Amino acid sequence: MTTRVRFAPSPTGSLHLGSARTALFNWLFARAVGGEFLVRIEDTDAERSRPELVTMVFDTLEWLGLDWDNRGEELRQSERADIYRQAVGRLLEENKAYACDCLRSDVDARNAEANRPPGYDGFCRERDLPVGEDTVVRFATPDTGTVAFDDVIRGTVSFECSNLEDFVIARSDGSVTFLIANAIDDAAMGITHVVRGEDLLNTTPKAVLLRRAMGIEDQPVFAHLPLIVGEGRKKLSKRRDDVAVENYRQAGYLPEAMVNYLALLGWGPNDGIEVRPVGEIIEQFTLEGINPAPAAFDPKKLAHVNAEKVRALSPEEFLDAAEPYLAQGPWNADDFDRDVFLALAGEVQSRVKTLAEVPSMVDFLFLDQPEMDEASVAKALTGNEAAPALLDGAIAAFADIEWTAEALHAATLALGEANGLKLGKAQAPIRVAVTGRTVGPPLFEALALLGRSATIDRLQRARALTGG
Ligand code: GLU
Repeated sequence: MTTRVRFAPSPTGSLHLGSARTALFNWLFARAVGGEFLVRIEDTDAERSRPELVTMVFDTLEWLGLDWDNRGEELRQSERADIYRQAVGRLLEENKAYACDCLRSDVDARNAEANRPPGYDGFCRERDLPVGEDTVVRFATPDTGTVAFDDVIRGTVSFECSNLEDFVIARSDGSVTFLIANAIDDAAMGITHVVRGEDLLNTTPKAVLLRRAMGIEDQPVFAHLPLIVGEGRKKLSKRRDDVAVENYRQAGYLPEAMVNYLALLGWGPNDGIEVRPVGEIIEQFTLEGINPAPAAFDPKKLAHVNAEKVRALSPEEFLDAAEPYLAQGPWNADDFDRDVFLALAGEVQSRVKTLAEVPSMVDFLFLDQPEMDEASVAKALTGNEAAPALLDGAIAAFADIEWTAEALHAATLALGEANGLKLGKAQAPIRVAVTGRTVGPPLFEALALLGRSATIDRLQRARALTGG
């Protein structure tokens, strides 16, 4: 039997990290065992599901490189209402489900009076109401016993049936709920392994009962992925944390970095080598290797993985990847000089954490005047006693030396010695004067590219800032 897994997003917003991790683990598992990875769109919530959000989900999956095997033929729940309705009809006929017209307030009042915990009390079970506009349909759960299933990550999970209320499977407008559509479709698609977030663990006993009631003999293997927690070990929140994968894409993260990092949220390779090509992750990936403990999302580690992936790009790949960010640089498009950028590209590549940082590493080369970073100015110029002498010295020394990185380096070294300073301290005011920042690509190569007159002009402007 072919191993078959699915990613089943409800398209109610852009794809967030948790969903992307679910998609990835399904994909990794399918690719590792030579199975199929399918996509199903759970768009039964007509009000919140929007077609453009489906496109966005596909687009993000594609960007991540998570190719799916039913491309163009994704099952969409919004097109299957009749199938679900028939299934509900059969359950009603077989007395495995019943119509109910209770108001929540009535249920609450009955429970309070009988001193029972909240939840549906089975009031309509024997009433044999016809299904109508004012009724929902509830599934009759067993009153006693347990329902158990095997979870690859958590072992055997079992629930007391007495804790499972008779849950709603169809609403009064005839539409069905998530639970039954989900169970029907997993069976219809021949899903062998249900790999999804721990937040759905509580719904699994209901799915197991529904499948049995509908005469589906085989149960899939379940694997409930650990929760992803953010700062303070709190569940990732859409408001507090940056959770949209799309935002990371915009911010200059590489898809291979996202995939590599997300793979580490709950799983780790046996050899401990965390940053590696996805092919190696597939080779090592197993569901059994997933840790049930909550996985901590650490944006710093993600940035670190990204920096490593950026460094691993070939020069051509780096240029291609940086291109869209360079196209948005703060300079006039006409002032951008590709050859100048190319001359520094390797240095830039080894210094950025994200592609979005690329323009700010080289903008001073293509702008009339650099954007002066306040903190850098305070540190290296206005708040630096040595700055006036160093700038005066540089203006004088740079006026007639040979304009090469080597000569500029030697002249700055000499200037430092004359002032009792090491090279790093001696070049700091020069760097901020010319680039606007304390960090950036190697200074003397940059000055050589910028040219003598622009360099001296900027040194003079900075000198005016330092006063004295
Ligand atoms: N549609 C559900 C969600 O987006 C996932 C259902 C499942 O994986 O079983 O949360």
